[in-house]
Amino acid sequence: MEEKKRLNRSISIRKYCTECCGGNREEVKNCISVNCSLYEYRRGKNPNKPKLTKSKAIRQRCLNCSGFYSPDVRNCEFKECYLYRYRMGAENRGKI
Ligand code: SF4
Ligand code: SF4
Repeated sequence: MEEKKRLNRSISIRKYCTECCGGNREEVKNCISVNCSLYEYRRGKNPNKPKLTKSKAIRQRCLNCSGFYSPDVRNCEFKECYLYRYRMGAENRGKI
């Protein structure tokens, strides 16, 4: 199994998006979900003047995944998720 703990945010987002598209990188490139918080970062690159920081984009995605109920993000048990390590934002990395 891949050591997800060691992936940085950019790679984690890219891999998350690839999973979201069933492993098809071309579909990630052509994603039309412009309202997804990860959209700008989906290809693993830093956009020019992003709307959200990477941390906030991940946090938003996790909130969306959890019905915008913050305790469910904290208590997420899906450790295999590529965003898991960063789900609480940069400040909480040490608690994971
Ligand atoms: S930007 Fe959002 S909808 Fe598009 S591939 Fe990534 S996670 Fe999926
Ligand atoms: S880490 Fe948990 S809350 Fe965040 S996207 Fe993954 S499964 Fe959802």
